[in-house]
Amino acid sequence: MNKIHVLDENTVNHIAAGEVVERYASVVKELAENSLDADSSFVKIGVFADKNSITKISITDNGFGMSPEDAVLAFGQHATSKITAQSDLNEISTLGFRGEALASIAAVSKVTLVTKERGSLEGTKVVINGGELRSCEAAGAPEGTSVIVEDLFFNTPARKKFQKKLPTELSHLYDAVERLALSHKDVAFVLTYNDKERFRTYGSGNAADVISEIFGDSLSKNLTEVSDKFSDINVTGYVSKPGSELRNQASGFYLSVNSRQIASNRLQWAVREGYGTLLASGKYPYAFLNIEMSPLDVDVNVHPTKKEVRFSYERTVMTAVQNAVYNALHDEIHADFESSVEDSKPKPEAPVKTLDSFVTEPGIAYFNDTGASFNQNRRTDIQLSRTREVESSGLRSDNADLRISKVISQIGGTYILAENEDGDLVIIDQHAAHERIMYDLLLKRRGVGGQELLVPLPLKLTRKEAAAVSGMLDVLSAAGYVLEPFGEDEWVVRSVPVLDSRLGEPEVVRDIIAETMGYPPADKEKALDRVLKTAACRAVVKGNTPLSLDRMERLVGQLAATDSPYTCPHGRPTFIVLGKEKLAKMFLR
Ligand code: ADP
Ligand code: MG
Repeated sequence: MNKIHVLDENTVNHIAAGEVVERYASVVKELAENSLDADSSFVKIGVFADKNSITKISITDNGFGMSPEDAVLAFGQHATSKITAQSDLNEISTLGFRGEALASIAAVSKVTLVTKERGSLEGTKVVINGGELRSCEAAGAPEGTSVIVEDLFFNTPARKKFQKKLPTELSHLYDAVERLALSHKDVAFVLTYNDKERFRTYGSGNAADVISEIFGDSLSKNLTEVSDKFSDINVTGYVSKPGSELRNQASGFYLSVNSRQIASNRLQWAVREGYGTLLASGKYPYAFLNIEMSPLDVDVNVHPTKKEVRFSYERTVMTAVQNAVYNALHDEIHADFESSVEDSKPKPEAPVKTLDSFVTEPGIAYFNDTGASFNQNRRTDIQLSRTREVESSGLRSDNADLRISKVISQIGGTYILAENEDGDLVIIDQHAAHERIMYDLLLKRRGVGGQELLVPLPLKLTRKEAAAVSGMLDVLSAAGYVLEPFGEDEWVVRSVPVLDSRLGEPEVVRDIIAETMGYPPADKEKALDRVLKTAACRAVVKGNTPLSLDRMERLVGQLAATDSPYTCPHGRPTFIVLGKEKLAKMFLR
C-alpha cells in the first residue's frame, strides 16, 4: 500500500514559516527587504503593541509597487520576480530571491497588502488570513506598497508560546531595522512605536550620518573610518578607535556583504585580528563594515533567512577585512603625529598587498624552508611584517592620552599616577606597560640575534628539554637566545635578547625553552611569538616594585613611544584615563 503523498500548499507554507518567520522581527526584516528590492527611497516601519506583546506591524514604502495580478501571485509558494532560472542563483543582486517570505508570513498571520504600481491609476488591496485569500479589490493608494501584519502565530499556538517578553521582541525588531538602515545608507528609514517616532535616517548616502542618527554622537565620535581595497574586494565603513569604550560581546558587529547584513564569526574574527593587540582580550569593538565584491564569489543561497553566506575565497575576504581594519587603525594612531611633523614624511606604505609578498618579504623568508603551511604562518607573517613597516617608517604612536606632563606618584607599588597635558588623571599599570615596551623592543630585534654574554651560561637540560631545544634552535636565536650543545646533556647559552634584564637568568631561560615545547616544527612562527611574549613578561618589573620618579618617567615615555601603547601583548590594558570632565562629574561640579 502506498503511504507517501505530496503535502498541500498551506502545510508547505507552514513548514517554510517555521524557518523564515521566527518572530515579528523576522517579519519586519523580510518585508523591509522587499521594500528595498522594490527600489524604494523611503521605508516606514510602524510597530504597535499592548502591554504584553506586539500586536501589529506595518511596512510602507514608495517603491515600484505591484500590478493587481502580481499582488495576489506574490503570496504563492515560491513566487518571485527576482529570479527566473537556476543560473540566476549564481549572481543574486537582490536581497530576496526564494519567493517564500510573503507565503510563509501570510500562512501564520493576518495580512493586508495595499499596493499601486508606479504610473498606474489604481491600486489593489489584498487580505489574507492564515494563508486563505479573503478579498482582493481595487483600492485608492499612493504609489508603492504597504503591508500590515497582525496576530502573528494566531493559528500556531506552539510558536506563539515561544515569543519572549515585549522588550526582548522589540529589541530584536529594532535591531533588524537598524541593520537594514545601516546597510542601506541612501534609503530613508522611519521607525515608530505606537505612533511615536523611535528613530529616523535621512538616506544621505553617508554611513557616518546613519550611525549617528541611530546610535548618537557619543558613539560615532569614537569611530575611525575604514576604506580599503584588497584583490577586488572593497571594505568600507567605521570601527571603534583603539582605547575607546568597547563591548564585552560581539553585539557591535554590523557586517554586510554587497549591502546584505550577514552573521559571520569568521569575519568578526578577522576584524579583531585587524586590531591585534590594540584590543584588550575579551573585548569587542563596534564594526560597521560593508564588503563590496563580485556577486559571483558569494553564495547567498545557504540559509533560509539568508543571514549567512558562503564565499568562494573566504581566506581572501578575511584578509581584506583584517587589512582594512589594521590600516584604518594605524592611520588613526599616526594621524596626530603626522600632522605635527614639519617636513611631512611620507606615510608608511600600506601593508603588504598581495598574498605572495607575505612569504617573500625579506626577514620573513627566515622560516621559509621549514615547510610550514602557508596559512598557518600567514597571520603572524602579516603582523610581523607590519610591525617592521611601521618601525622602518620611523613613525611612532602619539596618543594624546599619554602626553604626560607630570608623574605624580606610585601607589601600591603597582600603579603609576600621572597627569597628562589635558589635565586628565592617567593610571598606568607598571607591569603591563613594561611588558608592552619589552615586547616592542624584542619584536624590533627579532632575527637580529641577541647580545653576547661575556661569560656563557651553562645549562643542564632534561632529555625532553634538550630534544625541544634542538628542534627550535632557529626560533630561539631569532628571539635572541643562542644556545649550543656542550657535552652530553649540558648546554651553554651564548647570548640573550636584552642584557641587564632578567632574560639571562637560568630559570627564565628554562621558561622560554618550555614555551617552545609542544609546537610541531611547522608552527615556528607561532612558537616565536609565544617566546617573545613570554620573554617580554619575564623581563619586566613585577607589580609591587617601588620605582623612583625618574624610572617612572622613563617607563611612561617608553610606553608612549611603542606602536600599540594601549594593551600589553596579552591584551590587558596598560593604562586608564580618568578625564577631567569625568572627575568634575564625580564631584558634582
Ligand atoms: P522574494 O522576495 O524572495 O522574491 P517574497 O515572498 O518576499 O519573495 O515576495 C514575493 C514577490 O512579491 C517579490 O518577488 C516581489 O515581486 C513582490 N513584492 C513583495 N513585496 C513587494 C514590495 N514591497 N514592492 C514591490 N513588490 C513586492
Ligand atoms: Mg522577499
